[in-house]
Amino acid sequence: MVQDIVAEASNGHAAAANGHANGNGHANGNGKAAPAYGFSTRAIHVGSEPDEGTQAVIPAISLSTTYKQDGVGGIKAYEYSRSANPNRDGFERALASLEGGKHGLAFASGSATTATILASLAPGSHVLSVNDVYGGTYRYFTKVASTMQNVVTDFAELGGEREEVEATLKSKLTAQTKLVWLETPTNPTLRLIDIRLVAEVVKAVAPQAALVVDSTFLSPWYQNPLALGADIVVHSITKYINGHSDVVMGAAVTNDEAWAQKLRFLQNSIGAVPSAFDSWLALRGLKTLPLRLRAHGESALAVAEHLAQHPAVAEVIYPGLPSHPSHALARTQVAPRAAPKADSGAFAYGGMVSFRLRSNPKDERPAKAFLKKLRVFTLAESLGGVESLIELPSLMTHASVSDEDREKLGVEHNLVRVSVGLEDIEDLIADLDHGLEGLQLA
Ligand SMILES: *Cc1c(COP(=O)(O)O)cnc(C)c1O
Repeated sequence: MVQDIVAEASNGHAAAANGHANGNGHANGNGKAAPAYGFSTRAIHVGSEPDEGTQAVIPAISLSTTYKQDGVGGIKAYEYSRSANPNRDGFERALASLEGGKHGLAFASGSATTATILASLAPGSHVLSVNDVYGGTYRYFTKVASTMQNVVTDFAELGGEREEVEATLKSKLTAQTKLVWLETPTNPTLRLIDIRLVAEVVKAVAPQAALVVDSTFLSPWYQNPLALGADIVVHSITKYINGHSDVVMGAAVTNDEAWAQKLRFLQNSIGAVPSAFDSWLALRGLKTLPLRLRAHGESALAVAEHLAQHPAVAEVIYPGLPSHPSHALARTQVAPRAAPKADSGAFAYGGMVSFRLRSNPKDERPAKAFLKKLRVFTLAESLGGVESLIELPSLMTHASVSDEDREKLGVEHNLVRVSVGLEDIEDLIADLDHGLEGLQLA
């Protein structure tokens, strides 16, 4: 079985090499997904084929910047490491396989992925984005693309009932709209957007526009946007996919040949590429993605259910809880492998939980006092690592958002965001209880 995965993956590799030798930036790169094998099998084997020379089971880290040619123009698999590198190729093929995509492209960060996609747009292009998009993406749209590139982004509420979403899209999409950009769940209030619905309306109203979904918060274990109609899925690999808080990296996956060629060309031209070592680490992290994400989800659900019972907590936001306004959508949008068996009740839906303390939203002191008492949770930005992280968005990740906008988004001083890690659940719950004990909530 492993041999077949290897064969399939190395076909892709040969295609990459050919494309490369033909000088078209190996637009056909990355091989194809191997849907016949299960998710975990692909996570472990695609991109990690044993080395044909040394027989090493784990690929070596190829630090060489350049590759010997057999005569002028006699390029074998690789030429120059910015254009393509064996470790980056391996990671790209593995991630593409997990997203059900043909083409994976890795970048130096999630933000470099965004920048490279935006760089493909001609001046005068229009972008429509979900309103509470990731802060760095918002900054790029509003402070870089608009001023330097004359690419203007409109922000819109893309959640809610079908009629509302349709009406919003119809009023905001124009003939110049080249990208529709969304995140689901959003950060930090974990609202959900219906990817199928947005894809359907965009295809009907603005067929020239590509739908990009930033799926960082769920990872390919819980969500596969390409299967729901998205044209491109992007990830900050820094989060769940690498999963160990020790690599900054990003990636895009697509089935669209034209987009794949464009992005492959820009990946090489702009050169915001990850190092061989980071690619190697990220591929190592990706092998345990299924195990980690199942455990993140189970623990997040346990934390959410526990906090929902706690007298110091006013509200818990977790799409896997029936109390979440988009719980039904979570059920239909979650990848089949992670879908709950029963028809009703709570289920694991990612590792992120947000909650509101029963305190004055304008007063930051109760939340600060709570965070100070924690011993297992680390107070830090970012998410998706094996260790549990906790933060106060109003003064940390979302500190640059105006008070007025924060209020509109529901990001006030009593809202806490948790990235539930893989420590013993008893220790996590005891730590939260200890933090909440005796809080002055008034
Ligand atoms: C972290 C993050 C990014 C940016 O990724 P970097 O790797 O930090 O550049 C983009 N989108 C989301 C949803 C993120 O959480």
